[in-house]
Parts: sequence; structure tokens; C-alpha cells
Amino acid sequence: MILRNFELLFNDSNNFRGSVLHDEKLSKHTSMNVGGPASLFIEPADSESLVYALKCCIEGKIEFFVLGGGSNVIFCDEGIDVVICTRKLNSIQSGLEGGKTIKVGAGAVWAGVIQFCKRENLGGFEPFTGLSGTVGGALFMNASCFGLSTDSRLLNVTYLDTDDFKIKEYKKNPADWAYKVSPFNDGKKIILEAEFSVTEGFDKSLSEATIASRREKGHFKAPSAGSVFKNDGDKIAGRLIDECGLKGKTVGGAQVAPWHANFIINPEGKATYKDVLALVELIKNEVYKKHGIQLKQEVLFIDKEFCAPYTGED
Ligand SMILES: Cc1cc2nc3c(=O)[nH]c(=O)nc-3n(C[C@H](O)[C@H](O)[C@H](O)COP(=O)(O)OP(=O)(O)OC[C@H]3O[C@@H](n4cnc5c(N)ncnc54)[C@H](O)[C@@H]3O)c2cc1C
Repeated sequence: MILRNFELLFNDSNNFRGSVLHDEKLSKHTSMNVGGPASLFIEPADSESLVYALKCCIEGKIEFFVLGGGSNVIFCDEGIDVVICTRKLNSIQSGLEGGKTIKVGAGAVWAGVIQFCKRENLGGFEPFTGLSGTVGGALFMNASCFGLSTDSRLLNVTYLDTDDFKIKEYKKNPADWAYKVSPFNDGKKIILEAEFSVTEGFDKSLSEATIASRREKGHFKAPSAGSVFKNDGDKIAGRLIDECGLKGKTVGGAQVAPWHANFIINPEGKATYKDVLALVELIKNEVYKKHGIQLKQEVLFIDKEFCAPYTGED
């Protein structure tokens, strides 16, 4: 099915509510500010429309990518066919199921969740203050900040199983989770909503200390996708890179942050996908030469051919 015919499926207001943009620059939707256009950038307004959009892509054999906040992805310079962005699924509500809980849409950004917790005087997520991206993205990555992982307070997740298009409920099983490991990593389960436990009382000073620490580490100084490589126990990626003398190293418009060796930045907005990828490969080679350690990427490189994350390990 060609994209023009495919797009007609989204004129059906019984099945789809939301917006469809053409040739939308993905650099506008990623924290690194890198990436070519999405031929169609689809933003479903509710879960049913998201499910419909996914179904249309899968049945039509259209390559697509599910995007949250774009803070952990680098899109290729040529762009890709279809991006389905979750950011309109941003409901946040408190619930009560045997204690205090919050129910959050996959596209809710953490800034919104923290604001909600502050307003409702709910605690538990203060270490996530200042984290970029959405709840869905954090569950996929099992993002962790200052000792708290996304799964730490997770109770259950409502998701679409793209194998049989059924909406299912996942109840948290601690065995499924580890550092940067999540049962949603396979990309086949699309998160719609999640429920977390919270406590009574928002800790304002912890929240402020968290944001101050991020500021001090230079998180907000330049466009980036956060830490590029995973740590491996006491093998801290940033330290290994720093010991290779790579802080400030550039390839094209991409640079190893002079203040944080595990951040690659796009200081002048001129970096391309190829620049970032080349810098990643250079870092991996240098670290391997000096320390004999293979760094593993945390940031996902999304290429056009397969529209699948390039892990650098193929
Ligand atoms: C300045 C800065 C600081 C950062 N600090 C931290 C930190 O302290 N700790 C940390 O862990 N990370 C950190 N990150 C990385 C990043 O913010 C997290 O990984 C974040 O959780 C990614 O969420 P996102 O919504 O932006 O995901 P995206 O980048 O949009 O997507 C990431 C992956 O999640 C998938 N995905 C997104 N939504 C869904 C969904 N609904 N269902 C299924 N799959 C989905 C995407 O397909 C993609 O594969 C930082 C990034 C920046 C820019």
C-alpha cells in the first residue's frame, strides 16, 4: 500500500481521532535535535486511535516507529515513513487500589507527572524530577534516576499486544526487570497506560535537589539524548571515556560534552545522524583499545531501511 492510500485510513473519524502531519521534521521531536522528516507524523488523541493507527501500519506492512518524548532516540537523516507519537495520551489521575496510586497515560511527560504529584501532595517520584520524556518511553527503557527505576513503583501496565492486537494487562513481576531491562524492550507491546504506587506527601526539597544535581551535571546545557552508553556494574561508561581523553572530541557537528563524557551533544544544531553514529563508533573503539571493554549503547539509532533500532551489535 502506498502512503497516499494509507493516509486515507486516517480520514475515518469513527476510528481515528488525532492529527496527521506531512514531512514533519523529526529533529523537532527529539532532544538531540537530529533527524530527517517523517512522511507521516501521526498523533492519536486517544488509546483507541493509537491502536487503530498501529493496526493500519502492521496490516498495511508500513514501517513505523512509536515515539514518546524522543529523548533517547536518534533518527536517520533521510527520515522514515511513519511515526506514531504517543504524546497526546497524557492523562494523569489518582486512583485508589489498596493504597495510593496514580494512573498515567503512556504519553504523559515526567514534568507533568511531577507537577501532578506536587499539586496532589503525593510522594515517591521526586528522583524523576527533570527527567526528559514520557512514561511509556521510561517503561520501555526502564529509565532510572538517582536510585529509583521506573519499575520500582510500577503496579500494572495496559498494553497492545501487536502479535494478536489484543489489549492486555501486565502485572509487575520483579523478575522481568533489571538495569535498563524491561519486558517491553522487544517493541511488540505498545504501552497505553500504567499504574504506579505513590506515598502520602511530596518531598519538595528532594525534588529541588534532584533538579539542581541535573543542572550541575550539565544536563540542560546543550541538546543531547542523555547518557549514550550503559554502565556495567562498577565500569562507569563516562569514566572509561574520560580516561581515553575524549571529552570535547568532535565528529562533524556532534561532540562529546566537555563536561560529561557519557553525553554526546549537538551544540550548534548541526549534527547529523551520521556524525553521532561515527562519534559513537570512535568512542567504542577507543574504549576497547584502552580498557578492553565493549561499551553497550543506551541511545537508540533509528534507521530508514528497517525502521528498527540499530543497537550497534549486529
Ligand atoms: C538531558 C537528559 C537526561 C537524561 N537523564 C536520564 C536519566 O537520569 N536516567 C535515564 O534512565 N535516562 C535518562 N535520559 C534518557 C531518556 O530521557 C529516557 O530514556 C526516557 O525514559 C526516554 O523516554 P522517551 O519518552 O523520550 O522515549 P523515546 O526516546 O521517545 O523512545 C525510547 C524507546 O521507547 C519506545 N517507546 C516510547 N513510548 C512507547 C510506548 N508507549 N510503548 C512502547 N514503546 C514505547 C520507543 O519506541 C523507543 O524504542 C536522559 C535524556 C536526556 C536528554
